[in-house]
Amino acid sequence: MTRFKKSLLVLGVSGCLLTCVCGVLSQERRTVYPPGSAAHGLLGDAQRLRREHNISNSPTWEEALRLGELLRRNRFNHQTADQELLQTHGIRTLEGTNLVLYTDLKPSPEVDILPQIFDLAVVEYCKHFHVEPRAVASWKVIGSLIGDTAKFRQAGLLRDAPPFSNGYSIGNRLWLKDQKSDYYRRHLLIHEGVHAFMNYVFGTCGPPWYMEAMAEYLGTHRWQDGKLTLGIMPQSAEETPLWGRINLIRDDTARGNRELPDSIFRFEPAVYETPRGYAWSWAAGYYLDQHPRYQERFRQINRQLTFPDFTQRLWESLEPDWTELNNGWMDFTRQLAYGYDFPQTLIDFTQGRSLTEPVTLIVRPERGWQNSGILVEEGKPYEITAEGRFQLADQPKIWDSEADGVTVRYHDGRPLGLLLAAAVSDKKMSSPGETPPGTAFDTPFRIGRHTVLTPSVTGTLYFRINDFPNELQDNRGELKVIVRAMP
Ligand SMILES: [Zn+2]
Repeated sequence: MTRFKKSLLVLGVSGCLLTCVCGVLSQERRTVYPPGSAAHGLLGDAQRLRREHNISNSPTWEEALRLGELLRRNRFNHQTADQELLQTHGIRTLEGTNLVLYTDLKPSPEVDILPQIFDLAVVEYCKHFHVEPRAVASWKVIGSLIGDTAKFRQAGLLRDAPPFSNGYSIGNRLWLKDQKSDYYRRHLLIHEGVHAFMNYVFGTCGPPWYMEAMAEYLGTHRWQDGKLTLGIMPQSAEETPLWGRINLIRDDTARGNRELPDSIFRFEPAVYETPRGYAWSWAAGYYLDQHPRYQERFRQINRQLTFPDFTQRLWESLEPDWTELNNGWMDFTRQLAYGYDFPQTLIDFTQGRSLTEPVTLIVRPERGWQNSGILVEEGKPYEITAEGRFQLADQPKIWDSEADGVTVRYHDGRPLGLLLAAAVSDKKMSSPGETPPGTAFDTPFRIGRHTVLTPSVTGTLYFRINDFPNELQDNRGELKVIVRAMP
């Protein structure tokens, strides 16, 4: 490790597209910081303060925030810059409640509104992290939005920052290089703001994978009609220029490089030297925070950020559902697209029952994978028949389909509207990182109007109608499906 990297071993430091060495996860999902490093010291301080102030091993929100307050004392005392010096270098000051922003960029509505957007983001951070807004009323971040790096260096504003690619934050300071996209400039500000906020309220951002998951998830935003929404699913590439996380995940998945939750939990700092680490961290943050089954556990774990076994604690809270979580993840990462309709694609993983007589069920075209309630057995033939017409689109005209689909448009190499099935084993994963049974969703069976299906695994049978996962909203009608075990 170089001297430079060692100097970054400070909790409260985060870089974007930069070697951001905050700790590594060992096999036990424990954040290990080298002895003598500031981060190591912080975890030691946290342990001591917990003892001295009787803060429990499973802290309440009040205890977690109290500990954050104790940890940040004497740490965040950065002063604002000398106005005369700034003027000499053509740097102006924009100011809001929680942000002082120095910039050499020309006045423009998109730049000058950034402090106001930051203040709105702080309101959203507070909601997300269970923090009373008054707790951050006097919190001030000192930021630099940089057009010409030389001016900032001459004005002394880069003194505390190492070389970085796009954005960087330490304590209550952040630096942003200007971006060609108004969206991505705001994204970086909100992303670095999450790091600064977590450092302020909790004393730490936690291990790298989690720190970047939160910053990327909350940083992905919509700014429309004076309203700021964080943690969105972008509706199109045009809505989030330069962001590109969805395409990265699609490409990785198509090439067989899909990451599983367990591998993301073990991401080492070097993964964040390229956008790939941010993309997978974003996906993990989005999936765990938006999924109604895991959201509460994922949000509550913030109280335990100062523990070295933070990730292990999160994993243990999710362990009872680990196989289902991973099965759902396979479908999420496989189908992910701009405008992905997450609520409509959530899967019910209740185990099916063996067929004793033919079963008739309804498959809805506006949903993702639907549980048939049927347990199919490996090597046994099942006759599947589908009847009915449904609507696939209402724009520019109504498109009707039957279970064989329409051959004028394709998704995933198959006609839109085609009835698909997958048999997913109900076996639990035997280790946290093994390929989950949900990989069966990657290669579904073509059913159509009539098929005899002979599954290669014993498991629950799922159905879905082939469509783009961002075009489910306008689907109407239903398909009647009859499943019969053949003699
Ligand atoms: Zn970051």
